[in-house]
Amino acid sequence: MQPTDQQEATVDVAALRGWLDTFAEEVAANRDLLTRLDSEIGDADHGSNLHRGMTKVIAVLDEQPPATPAALFKTTGMTLVSTVGGASGPLLGTLFLRLSGAVGLDDRVDPAQLASGLRAGLDGIVARGHATAGDKTMYDALAPACDAFEQALGDDLALGEALEAASTAAAAGRDSTVGMLAKKGRASYLGERSVGHQDPGATSTAMLIAAAADALR
Ligand code: ADP
Ligand code: MG
Repeated sequence: MQPTDQQEATVDVAALRGWLDTFAEEVAANRDLLTRLDSEIGDADHGSNLHRGMTKVIAVLDEQPPATPAALFKTTGMTLVSTVGGASGPLLGTLFLRLSGAVGLDDRVDPAQLASGLRAGLDGIVARGHATAGDKTMYDALAPACDAFEQALGDDLALGEALEAASTAAAAGRDSTVGMLAKKGRASYLGERSVGHQDPGATSTAMLIAAAADALR
């Protein structure tokens, strides 16, 4: 059997839990960086916001391990919405709630479901926050990641390679926020002074996609 074989390409709830563990570790390790970025164009709480949220997510998942990917993502989304104050909690929470809705009720998730779940998550973020390309938000990391992931799967790349492509695109999107003028969120209050600073939400979102590439390859 080739690695691209359907069964081999799917991921189970333990692997997806590994994605969340990796993301939580990355957030903890980069908490000060995220807070410093938010201190430049926001209110210096993005690192502590996300760290509080992901610490709670892991605690809730440990307490009651979800049986299915849909339940795992639903618990994650609901916990983020309820524990992360500020803009990023409801937005990131929406991403996971949409992912939950997109992966079906099976024990395993296939790459196409993951791609449509991330796309649905992006759409949910837009429905809530009305960001578009170039507004200097998490959208600018997540949208190119979705595009690259879909493109790579369409080119018949294996899940790991497709996530690697998504991660590279998210990092490039994150870097591109430096030159942008913020149009949404707190950073938009700064107008021209927001230019020259990397968006904290795009930075954490690139970490989320990099964590997927690390954990699900
Ligand atoms: P707050 O801005 O309320 O303090 P955080 O500091 O946790 O919340 O998160 C800030 C990040 O949220 C920003 O860097 C940006 O990426 C993201 N963000 C803010 N508003 C929006 C929006 N309307 N759409 C998408 N992302 C947004
Ligand atoms: Mg903030």
